[in-house]
Amino acid sequence: MIFKCRNCGANTVWSPEKDSMCCPHCDSIDSEEAVNSADMFQCAACGAPMQPKQYDSATKCEHCGAYTIFEERISGEYLPHLILPFKVGKQKAKELIKQEFGKKLFLPSSFLKESYLDKMEGDYIPFFLFDFDCHYRFSAKGKKIRRWTTGDTEYTETSIFQIFRDMDVDFSRIPTDASLAMPDGEMDLLEPYNYGEMTGFEPKYMSGFLGEIYSVSKETLEPRAKQKARNDAGALMRSSIIGYDSVMPEMDDCQCMTKAENYALLPVWNYIYRFKGKDYFFRLNGQTGKLVGKAPISIGKLTGYAATLFGCIVAIGALINGILGVI
Ligand SMILES: [Zn+2]
Ligand SMILES: [Zn+2]
Repeated sequence: MIFKCRNCGANTVWSPEKDSMCCPHCDSIDSEEAVNSADMFQCAACGAPMQPKQYDSATKCEHCGAYTIFEERISGEYLPHLILPFKVGKQKAKELIKQEFGKKLFLPSSFLKESYLDKMEGDYIPFFLFDFDCHYRFSAKGKKIRRWTTGDTEYTETSIFQIFRDMDVDFSRIPTDASLAMPDGEMDLLEPYNYGEMTGFEPKYMSGFLGEIYSVSKETLEPRAKQKARNDAGALMRSSIIGYDSVMPEMDDCQCMTKAENYALLPVWNYIYRFKGKDYFFRLNGQTGKLVGKAPISIGKLTGYAATLFGCIVAIGALINGILGVI
């Protein structure tokens, strides 16, 4: 499926700045009509052959630049329940990268070049969000020890308390990254997202961006999300037990019931910079603009800088010698 402008026929895309569909060719707003593609291996805009990868749900035609969404990968089991549309547009994403890296001394000169930054693409990353109802029951013996001295005698009083906690804790939208391609650690660094701004899925939000279907099933992710809920519930429970010298647990039981599971898409900007045969990945939270990535250091620039410093020292040395010569 591609979205075409009713006024000029160009490919309309979702504009985070205008919070609506926009035609980059004639600037029309909300002029889109969806055109379904007969064949996912052929661009619906120009007819050029396309080679979607195994998990692509939306891609860009290499020939004409039109953004195509694959209907069969946003329907049935792959129909997302929720989407967090991009709030940060490409221009803003580029500015944020320039702001962050503009003052770095040893950056390769092409790193912030417009032609490189233009290759940046927005990508919708698949997630499962879990809602759990947790019932936590905990019991323990808590000891409080009091010591005092009267005359030559030291007294110790040990009081033992029975501790019991019975708590219901509800969790909503615990996120788990369902993309094999996205390293979990990096996705964790990009968080948090404000999940309150999520909305019901509509294909138009994907126009102008790349997308992926989930490559890790919710059955695989559910136990991880449950463990996170249990850990958080445990921390909450422990924070309610204070003032004891020691606590000996007797029962520690957390029952987690899955209340809801939502398949959702979250926005990430990707800038891949290739330097000396190595790819450097920069990712930007498409909602908050938070940036994750470490820039490469150009050894050429570093040597140049050291040479300049050395040059300065030699020049100062020559000047001192000169002055001494006069005396
Ligand atoms: Zn148009
Ligand atoms: Zn095309």
